[in-house]
Amino acid sequence: MGLGTHAHRMVIYPISHPDSETGLSLINWIAEVTHDDPDAYQNMGWYRQTSVDDFIHHFEDWKYDWLDVPALIRGSDIAYENPMIDRDPIPSWVDGPVALLGDAAHAMYPTGSNGASQAIIDARILGAKFLEFGVNPDALAAYNAELRDPISSLVLRNRDAGPFGLLNMVNDRCGGDFKNINDIVSEEERNDFMAKYKSAAGFARDALNNAPPLIAAGAKVG
Ligand SMILES: Cc1cc2nc3c(=O)[nH]c(=O)nc-3n(C[C@H](O)[C@H](O)[C@H](O)COP(=O)(O)OP(=O)(O)OC[C@H]3O[C@@H](n4cnc5c(N)ncnc54)[C@H](O)[C@@H]3O)c2cc1C
Repeated sequence: MGLGTHAHRMVIYPISHPDSETGLSLINWIAEVTHDDPDAYQNMGWYRQTSVDDFIHHFEDWKYDWLDVPALIRGSDIAYENPMIDRDPIPSWVDGPVALLGDAAHAMYPTGSNGASQAIIDARILGAKFLEFGVNPDALAAYNAELRDPISSLVLRNRDAGPFGLLNMVNDRCGGDFKNINDIVSEEERNDFMAKYKSAAGFARDALNNAPPLIAAGAKVG
């Protein structure tokens, strides 16, 4: 679930199955605030534990009749702080016998929550190229040729709002104050927006589910 806008938002999602008795799940949340200070990240660490009091003022009035965001944040076991940074695309993911994959090749804003998924896809495609060409420079070149350009475009696209573009639209049209969402953005417009985003980011579920496996079960490089 997403709340807010691209520049000031909460993303909340379950990370466990619901408890069979209470129906409650363990959740993870991300509270995000954009600062116009490109050097600020130098003062921050990766996964540095932080105090809720340091940032909760940004969300103090996010209270709805269905969710109390400050209470949710205060009820957490622990909170960590991360700078939101990415890397410019690089000309090639392959240099001699070395190939980059995952964040080393394409650290991106988690706008579509797909950095880790993309790392897994990289590994699958690299494996498929080894099967096709053998473990040699041709396989690395084919891997680079298939992924570098489209994923570099994805890195740049993730600097935009991604799926949060829809919430930006709601904010622009009514300041987030509405009784019925259909009066602000029609269901058709919402579905159309999300379908375009999912397709661009490779999240087209049906197309993905119907595609054959990249590597056949039990396949081995000869
Ligand atoms: C807050 C946050 C939320 C995220 N949420 C999502 C999400 O919901 N969905 C999603 O798909 N992605 C998400 N991501 C992105 C995802 O975590 C990364 O894209 C993914 O972990 C990249 O995997 P990787 O294996 O390429 O790199 P990493 O996971 O960074 O692994 C690299 C490993 O190499 C080790 N290492 C570094 N240097 C050396 C060295 N010299 N010698 C030996 N080992 C070394 C590091 O310790 C690390 O263990 C999120 C990221 C962050 C920060």
